[in-house]
Amino acid sequence: MSYCIETRGLSYHYSKQEQVLNNVHLKVPEGTIYGFLGPNGAGKTTTLRLMLGLLKQQQGDIEIFGKKMSSHRMEILQQLGSLIESPSLYGHLSARENLLIWQTIYKCDKSRVEEVLKLVGLAETGKKKVSKFSLGMKQRLSIGVALLHSPKLLVLDEPTNGLDPQGIIEMRELLRNLNREEKITIIVSSHLLSEIEKLVTHLGIIYKGEIQFQGTLEDLKKARSQAGKIVVETNNNPTFIQLLSSHGVSAVVEDRKVVFPFLEKEKLGDLLSEAVHKGLKLYEVSPMKEDLESIFMEITNQ
Ligand code: ATP
Repeated sequence: MSYCIETRGLSYHYSKQEQVLNNVHLKVPEGTIYGFLGPNGAGKTTTLRLMLGLLKQQQGDIEIFGKKMSSHRMEILQQLGSLIESPSLYGHLSARENLLIWQTIYKCDKSRVEEVLKLVGLAETGKKKVSKFSLGMKQRLSIGVALLHSPKLLVLDEPTNGLDPQGIIEMRELLRNLNREEKITIIVSSHLLSEIEKLVTHLGIIYKGEIQFQGTLEDLKKARSQAGKIVVETNNNPTFIQLLSSHGVSAVVEDRKVVFPFLEKEKLGDLLSEAVHKGLKLYEVSPMKEDLESIFMEITNQ
């Protein structure tokens, strides 16, 4: 698999007292939407700023498009769009006028302005001043600025921060569309798993400057299901719990159902048949569903 971004052993400190990043290894596969997730202060912005060359590297390596950031900075930045801090938008100008200013700075074709307006869903805003825009529209215009030079990679730091639910949905649709139709690889940071899990294909979780998990959403669910629980509904919980206990499995009752730790398939099968032989009725056996939010909480020990 080829990676759009690969960091190795990335470490960083602002002061001697506090190591902010510790050996961060990120692998963002080409063509994906990669969610970079972690609670506030985990080190997301620092990692992204290093990736963009906004902070001086101290330790480790960053490769983007297969080239080292330290020696190919300009070449890489020409193919990369980012939104880290809000860019300067002129409130007294329209979306089109704002983009025309950036178009002259970026020296790209004028026709790109119309394309970008369409891409970010602002083609119909006409003469409306940006100061009258909703936060979501401003955010989309900022992404529009980042798209002017047709980048292959977008780096976005918490683009949904502060948006209302409708704004979040529109942002999600925009990013999905840019990824699918324009084939842009996107890395997007967030401290809210619920916002990201509907959007991303891959995920990196950072906590206290260290990567706790990296892989696909499926990988994460699979890894955690091994540590999940099993729930059984029976007609006689005390007898069933006794049986489990005689096999060294400790169980509790929750919501009138018996809950115990995940067991190997064979062992679970043996226990359930033994229960049936003893005359117990089993109405339901199911894995206790763990949503991604609780997995995230568990991984980050919150
Ligand atoms: P948030 O979502 O709150 O921005 P984050 O995951 O992006 O969090 P960072 O902004 O990378 O985290 O911050 C990581 C740590 O580095 C925090 O402890 C923060 O206080 C510290 N830090 C960030 N920027 C600076 C700076 N310019 N000088 C000193 N310390 C900093």
